[in-house]
Amino acid sequence: MDKQKNQPIEVDIVVVGAEIIGLATAASAAKLGMRVCCIDQQLPPEKEGAIYGQEQLQSAWVSALASPGVTLLDEIGVWDDLKDHACPYHHMRVEIYGAPIHLSHRDAMTPNLGHILNNFRIKQALWQSCRASDGVVFLQDTPQEWRHEEQQLYTTSGQQITAALCVGADGVNSWCRSAAGISHIQHEYIQDNALVGMLQHGKPHHQTARQYFSEHGVLGILPSTDYHRSIYVWSSARGQSQADSLARMLQRVPSEIGSLKLIGEPRSHRIVSQRVTKYHQRQIVLAGDAAVSVHPLAGQGMNIGLRHVIMLMKQLKYAHRNSQLFSNQQILSRYQELCCGFDALSCETYSHMRRWLCHRSGVWSHFVGLGVRCFNQAATVKRVLIRHALHANIH
Ligand SMILES: Cc1cc2nc3c(=O)[nH]c(=O)nc-3n(C[C@H](O)[C@H](O)[C@H](O)COP(=O)(O)OP(=O)(O)OC[C@H]3O[C@@H](n4cnc5c(N)ncnc54)[C@H](O)[C@@H]3O)c2cc1C
Repeated sequence: MDKQKNQPIEVDIVVVGAEIIGLATAASAAKLGMRVCCIDQQLPPEKEGAIYGQEQLQSAWVSALASPGVTLLDEIGVWDDLKDHACPYHHMRVEIYGAPIHLSHRDAMTPNLGHILNNFRIKQALWQSCRASDGVVFLQDTPQEWRHEEQQLYTTSGQQITAALCVGADGVNSWCRSAAGISHIQHEYIQDNALVGMLQHGKPHHQTARQYFSEHGVLGILPSTDYHRSIYVWSSARGQSQADSLARMLQRVPSEIGSLKLIGEPRSHRIVSQRVTKYHQRQIVLAGDAAVSVHPLAGQGMNIGLRHVIMLMKQLKYAHRNSQLFSNQQILSRYQELCCGFDALSCETYSHMRRWLCHRSGVWSHFVGLGVRCFNQAATVKRVLIRHALHANIH
């Protein structure tokens, strides 16, 4: 649905941020019959069909999607188109101080451990779903003021949007979080940057994800739909020469996937580890990186954001059915309850894994290596932890 510039807009919810979490929120809410206005400072081009070229759709900007995210994309109606481009992975091999952990979908009692899928593809599918819906209006704009008593958002271009609820899906430096007056806790000791790129290897990856912890950082190698190509994510401390440390790290990777060759230039991402102390205030509710941003070593950031969308939609559906306001405090507090424990555990675990599993001390590494070997034998503990990471108990 398009609208004429500066005509006041009245909707059920306004979503700030049109990346994957904002678009998934808008598409899910529209499916439930809500009217949505989605605003972003940079929207994809307005055109029919594909909005991204092959270069982006085949790039290394991928996510490891867990099953609740897949279910959400299926409910929105985009998974059928996406699944042929996704690489399911069944095994994960982790190495910590030389001690191996082997995780299998059988340990988790699930058909796979997740799907590796290009983020541009997910975004394109969600964008098309929203564009095909009569319930979603898009605005390329930035928010300026949220008047929570009037439930009105004013944008920098002078647009007035009236909405019962404002969803902040506007990333790590969220404007919505500040407008709501919500504080956050940041792990200052995480000062990493990630290099993300493509690797070619001599032997097939056998749908196995790999991860290596070293004193310099963490290397993840994620399989793609091409059996001889994988995506690498190398996170290490900012300030050091990351390309050199990556090259050294790749030499240490066991040869089970053959000789490795880097393809093209990597993308660089600044890593932030932080989480909010509250998920809603002043009729603003936060989702995705605006609420929690975790270290990418476990490939969980987007999965956590998609989990927020699932939990929020559950609450909004309940409110809709029971003729309650979307901004009802009980509804939003329930959303917060459903998210905060899980998110805090994830955020703390991944930042401490980065801190303590990439340590230089010989004695420490000896004890951790011993612990890792014991963990690898403890099937029940392994199952509980894998199922947490896979969000397998969500429904
Ligand atoms: C190297 C790396 C690897 C990762 N790998 C994985 C993985 O394997 N699996 C996984 O689950 N997650 C992964 N993640 C995390 C995942 O990418 C993020 O959690 C996810 O992209 C966050 O999405 P979001 O929509 O919440 O925020 P963003 O993608 O940051 O989107 C925010 C949107 O809000 C808009 N915006 C911001 N401010 C304003 C404003 N003032 N006005 C208007 N618009 C605004 C921006 O333009 C943007 O479109 C990885 C992250 C990194 C860095």
